[in-house]
Amino acid sequence: TPQSWEARADEYSFYGFTDLPSVHQRGAVVLTHGEGPYVFDVNGKRYLDANSGLWNMVAGFDHKGLADAAKAQYDRFPGYHSFFGRLSDQTVLLSEKLIEVSPFDHGRVFYTNSGSEANDSMVKMLWFLHASEGNPKRRKILTRWNAYHGVTVVSASMTGKPYNEVFGLPMDGFIHLTCPHYWRFGQEGETEQAFTQRLAQELEDTIQREGADTIAGFFAEPVMGAGGVIPPSAGYFQAIQPILKKYGIPLISDEVICGFGRTGNTWGCQTFDFTPDAIISSKNLTAGLFPMGAVILGPELSDRLQAAAEKIEEFPHGFTASGHPVGCAIALKAIDVVMNEGLAENVNRLSPRLEAGLRAIMDRSEHIGELRGVGFMWALEAVKDKPTKTPFDGSLSVSERIANTCTDLGLICRPLGQSIVLCPPFILTEEQMDEMFEKLEQALNKVFAELA
Ligand code: PLP
Repeated sequence: TPQSWEARADEYSFYGFTDLPSVHQRGAVVLTHGEGPYVFDVNGKRYLDANSGLWNMVAGFDHKGLADAAKAQYDRFPGYHSFFGRLSDQTVLLSEKLIEVSPFDHGRVFYTNSGSEANDSMVKMLWFLHASEGNPKRRKILTRWNAYHGVTVVSASMTGKPYNEVFGLPMDGFIHLTCPHYWRFGQEGETEQAFTQRLAQELEDTIQREGADTIAGFFAEPVMGAGGVIPPSAGYFQAIQPILKKYGIPLISDEVICGFGRTGNTWGCQTFDFTPDAIISSKNLTAGLFPMGAVILGPELSDRLQAAAEKIEEFPHGFTASGHPVGCAIALKAIDVVMNEGLAENVNRLSPRLEAGLRAIMDRSEHIGELRGVGFMWALEAVKDKPTKTPFDGSLSVSERIANTCTDLGLICRPLGQSIVLCPPFILTEEQMDEMFEKLEQALNKVFAELA
């Protein structure tokens, strides 16, 4: 008999970021197409994707205007690089547009194929810059525990997750500071303000211990995404930025998830009221239709890097598909769609409803300890005991069970630690949101009843 799609997927895929026992037991979900925020599997089953793919399919799975923009560009000029001073008109248009919509009054853009590569490229830019300015020892990178910056050797070293130990990472010189999650890491009796101050002090102590002249830059997601949707503690960026400025350490905002509307503003740094020295973008940049990342340099870094490159006549770094014309054409259309077709507005209009619905679910549950998030990115954290915030035993895989039960019910959401993450496409309607609430609560009740 012919093998099922699920068995064929299992036989030929070397899966990344996939819980193998779970996929062997349940089978992979093999998808064929999408409609709005829904995806359909080979058996015709429909799922509401409350994950937007991987945070990126913000315009849903069948946006005609985006597909048309891609097709038109494939017909017109289907591929080119941006080396040797040759680049496509679409690349020029996108760079102009990115600076226009950025918080910067001027700057420059460098393109990659992914968010990981954009972070890697930024690190190389900082190393290149400091060396060119006579500070070759300025190479250490500061990030935070629970941060996710990617999977390449450098960006995985920046990522603050214990799972990277299996690769012998992080490399030396990547330093992780405390995650700014007050609910989990605030100490007994400590106010949120005091917690923020403690983290700012930790940053300054670290800079002084390591030596400011050894530190190349500080990277932060405005809201940690893959760390479990963790907005910063109150006043966090306002507390750390003056310290970074004092020691001349650039602040890089990794907006791979937060960029282009996810937090309710174009950029997460606007939602949290700080201006970084550069922005890392990917995912939403092309509404998930093309693998593309961008480093958007603010005025000072842009000018200094340009001067450093002029000195040796080139910045020796780039990818074959940097600034790919089809990716750029799609990104131009995606920015237009998000900003001018009501998607950003929909996030702002419906995010209070999303928060209220999730809060009601939390209030009705004995085992949801925290709701956190902003805009269209939220997480519910499961706890064994609410008053003491005691987590479930890790071996129970509580969030995976909840996510699997959701999948059975036709809802895709993501388990992260002991949290369930919801980051729906920006096109979500009220009715679809209600469907999400209903299925999610049904799954939570079922799993918590089984664990009781
Ligand atoms: N930075 C952040 C904040 C991310 O969330 C991700 C991916 O989820 C990355 C970087 C890496 O992007 P990519 O998977 O495109 O390499």
